[in-house]
Amino acid sequence: MSDTPEHRKVVIIGSGPAGYTAGLYTSRALLEPLLFLGPTVGGQLTITTDVENYPGFADGVTGPEMVDIFRKQAERFGTTCLADTVESVDLSVRPFVVKAETTTVTCDTLIIATGADAKYLDLDSVHRLKNKGVSACATCDGFFFRDQRLAVVGGGDSAVEEATFLTRFATEVVLIHRRDELRASKIMAKRALENEKITMAWDTTVSEALGDEKLTGLRLKNLKTGEEREEEFGGLFMGIGHVPNTAFLGDQLAKDEAGYLLTKPGWTATEIPGVFACGDAADSYYRQAVTAAGTGCAAAIEAERWLEEQAG
Ligand code: NAP
Repeated sequence: MSDTPEHRKVVIIGSGPAGYTAGLYTSRALLEPLLFLGPTVGGQLTITTDVENYPGFADGVTGPEMVDIFRKQAERFGTTCLADTVESVDLSVRPFVVKAETTTVTCDTLIIATGADAKYLDLDSVHRLKNKGVSACATCDGFFFRDQRLAVVGGGDSAVEEATFLTRFATEVVLIHRRDELRASKIMAKRALENEKITMAWDTTVSEALGDEKLTGLRLKNLKTGEEREEEFGGLFMGIGHVPNTAFLGDQLAKDEAGYLLTKPGWTATEIPGVFACGDAADSYYRQAVTAAGTGCAAAIEAERWLEEQAG
């Protein structure tokens, strides 16, 4: 048996809309891509309820159904999907080396589509009570909080989506937001504000999550008056944004201060020829499934043309 790692023209890291679209396009270009599925197969869409804003699905579609379709479509044309998580890459050598938990491969081009993960409030008590009443995924965990009073922190689309979803189970959902105006899109904000089960806690932050074995309540602070109070809650859900999954790259590629990958303006190409970044890992602004799919397509086309140029 040879110890030489398997070599591919194209390796894709990540299985969200960006990764699968890159797989679809590079497989249709007969480049036989290998796609690492990563720790959350399907990415953030798997923890999204209904996707109503992806063109082509007039009646909406659930996140898990959508990623299932993406995967089937990518595999139909020859994308190999591997259930493994990339731990490091070496971009200082050619071909590039990609080390995952159980496999090491080399590649001529690398498409990074590792997405982003939900952020948690940086409080010791919140970290301690993770999965003990503190969650970042209403779709995954909402069912366990039936007939309880729940809190969601944040004021963007994630927060209002989580809060709205949780009203299916909760007696009441309190949306805790640090300002007095939601950042969420108008239609989603309106839906949340009109929902009888949702109460707004404006200008408020969580100063501590209370409880030993499991969450029992929150200490809240009104930022306008400075007043602190304790309230009982059975669950606390995070809706405060995301962190890009780019730490495994170390400092081999340029990133912004939040860790999002920087590409050449208007392109998915990074400063290392043959390495492309797409989807939420390189997008702190749009962060939509449709824009991720769009940049996944762009990365695939750029990778294909770059390979053609190298071949002369
Ligand atoms: P986001 O738009 O960045 O909103 C994060 C929210 O959390 C903001 O309201 C922010 O407050 C608050 N926040 C951030 N850090 C905080 C902290 N330390 N303490 C308290 N509050 C904090 O993030 P997102 O809601 O995850 O949305 C990201 C993108 O995904 C957006 O483009 C959104 O449209 C999209 N998205 C779409 C859907 C959908 O269409 N179905 C669902 C989810 C997300 P400030 O407002 O004061 O900054």
